[in-house]
Amino acid sequence: MVLHLTGPVVVGDDDVREQAWVVDGRITYAAPSEAPKRTLDGTVVPGLVDVHCHVGLDSGGAVDPELALKQALVDRDAGTLLIRDAGSPTDTRFIDALPTAPRLIRAGRFIARPMRYLRHYAREIEVADLPRVMAEEARAGDGWVKIIADWIDREVGDLTPLWPADVLAEGIAAAHEAGARVTAHAFATESIDALLDGGIDCIEHGTGMTAEHMAEAARRAVPVVPTLLQVANFEGYAAQGEARFPAYAARMRPMHERRFAHALALHEAGVPLLIGTDAGGTIGHGALPAEAAHLVAAGIPAADVVAMASWRAREFLRAPGLEEGAPADLVVYGEDPRADIGALATPRHIVLRGAVV
Ligand SMILES: [Zn+2]
Repeated sequence: MVLHLTGPVVVGDDDVREQAWVVDGRITYAAPSEAPKRTLDGTVVPGLVDVHCHVGLDSGGAVDPELALKQALVDRDAGTLLIRDAGSPTDTRFIDALPTAPRLIRAGRFIARPMRYLRHYAREIEVADLPRVMAEEARAGDGWVKIIADWIDREVGDLTPLWPADVLAEGIAAAHEAGARVTAHAFATESIDALLDGGIDCIEHGTGMTAEHMAEAARRAVPVVPTLLQVANFEGYAAQGEARFPAYAARMRPMHERRFAHALALHEAGVPLLIGTDAGGTIGHGALPAEAAHLVAAGIPAADVVAMASWRAREFLRAPGLEEGAPADLVVYGEDPRADIGALATPRHIVLRGAVV
């Protein structure tokens, strides 16, 4: 079946085509001889990418396969056609065989220490086991490993790093050796130096990053995923922890208050930003357009935010975009989201593996 996309077709930052076709599930810019069965009119972008999303997880931990699939389909209907699953306790391999489900790049199970993360979420291990377990999860995932770098230490009453810097560096090296890249959940300032020095490939949340950290992340081209929908919850976490952990509450509140300025500072420092909803624990699926709107509200130009949500994320994940011959995973919008980010909330057509969803 042939589809005609009347465009504009936004392939990349400096690459916008007038029109394109989908032939046998793939993108082409050469007019085919066969007449198109359907014309899709509007601004076309490569399928959106949620780089921090948890399929198969809800507030209680693992979910049944039916619910895991439902979560993925809710994301798809918001235009998210590629998910980097940032850690899940559920085996979601069955989703790979379903042509109507978004594509998943898994980080395996996320890695934490006992009592140092949310219960039922992570693979909980002792410090000394980190390098071995990171290598195992590297082999179990799709090229990514996810670790928890800091969490509340109940004895200290505040966020502290989970891993000593030398063990962390050894763990990252072990994952790299096994062919995977590593990303880390990091709220605290104190965990960032060890991550950057250890060769981390991506930072989730990054709320504690200082100007020096931002400069270093920019120099190393390490992306940060600001997860503003998640940081919006920090005020609630502070209020919950207030009575028992006043130091924790006092740390979380300012990170909440400055969340928009912080995201803009990261962008202006030259840190590559990517879009993650952190859906799956407490945040609902399908929220990528809302997360993107938050980044624009922070002052980042809409055109940059669309790029982060689409072709820049695909490039970073080494996934195809809309180059000639690529699988046709794309979204068509009535208005150009680079001019009005609100357009992301109402996709006109979604094409996945060459088929209109
Ligand atoms: Zn998460």
